[in-house]
Amino acid sequence: MALIPYGKQHLSEQDYAAVLEVLKSDYLTQGPQVPAFEAAVAELTGAAHAVAVNSATSALHLACLALGLGPGDRLWTSPITFVASANCGRYCGAEVDFVDIDPNTRNLCPQQLAKKLAQAAATQSLPKVLVVVHMAGASAPMAEIAALTKRYQVAIIEDASHAMGASYQEAAVGGCQFSDISVFSFHPVKVVTAGEAGVATTQNATLAKALRQLRSHGITRDAEDSHAVLPPWGYEQHALGMNYRLSDIHAALGRSQLTQLRSFIARRFALAERYHQALADLPVKRPVLDPESAWHLYLIELEHADTRRAVFEAMRAQGIGVNVHYIPVHTQPYYQALGFQHGDFPLAEQYYAGALTLPLYPDLTEQQQDTVIAALQKAIEDA
Ligand SMILES: *Cc1c(COP(=O)(O)O)cnc(C)c1O
Repeated sequence: MALIPYGKQHLSEQDYAAVLEVLKSDYLTQGPQVPAFEAAVAELTGAAHAVAVNSATSALHLACLALGLGPGDRLWTSPITFVASANCGRYCGAEVDFVDIDPNTRNLCPQQLAKKLAQAAATQSLPKVLVVVHMAGASAPMAEIAALTKRYQVAIIEDASHAMGASYQEAAVGGCQFSDISVFSFHPVKVVTAGEAGVATTQNATLAKALRQLRSHGITRDAEDSHAVLPPWGYEQHALGMNYRLSDIHAALGRSQLTQLRSFIARRFALAERYHQALADLPVKRPVLDPESAWHLYLIELEHADTRRAVFEAMRAQGIGVNVHYIPVHTQPYYQALGFQHGDFPLAEQYYAGALTLPLYPDLTEQQQDTVIAALQKAIEDA
């Protein structure tokens, strides 16, 4: 167990009290906490609709289903992401492909996207859905991306799992100004937590309705939606949905955490600025100091990629929980078995070769951060 992990939740008395209150109430699930949590996310993001589920992975799956993704369709995403951004396409039976990254931001690259869309248009192999990941909490260039996809009628899902509280062009991420659906994660390592949870936001009432129905077995109890006049005990199943519901226990924690979001991000940004200054003279590439980022992760790249393993092991040996985000998805055995090969997305692979994630979380003290920085410096010298 690392003494200094790469990420960690911050919980307070307020959070404990919020959870305890639910445990003492009548509803552990399907009570008032889930809609209250959804309302808080809608307000924060400016989205008209927010639908809470039990994970961001579930939210990505439902988002794909709501957009009609199925066998014979294609989903594109970035190779530098968690596997869930791609797997959601596979759940629906769609083919998955990737768009290489911008090495500066590690987000999907608009130029690469433009090129790939033009090729796909020529061969009638355009994607139905593009999943845009906001890597480390900094928004991808959504206006550019949406301008490129518009003429091809590609639906956009923002995988904003890292980006709760981030903004883009001064508007909150999740407002879906340039996308159909945005998805947030509340896993404990993310910016705010609910234990486990995901939320999908959208401005589109039809999509919101589909998301809600699919999260609970594809069932409706709404008289307006029903084919027949329902008896008082009645419900109708209209689609093959899941049980992806969130409990009220989780929702209450998520809601309480959201009230602390601004202070969490302010602290993360202050620590990111400290790293930025302290690492200026080391042979590492630092992340862009984006003030609109939620600063989920602090990602560096070692200039000498061949020393990454030695640096990683030296820091882990001292109890510093460095990590690597991410192993390019197309190099995973599952995706290799589908035909992808090493070398398919060279910019992603080049980034990955030297990538290292340094600890960043609100409770990281400046003293601990100085320990991390000194250990990194020494590990690089020794490597
Ligand atoms: C964490 C994460 C997910 C999955 O989130 P869960 O809530 O754990 O399902 C999806 N995409 C990205 C980019 C993530 O970092």
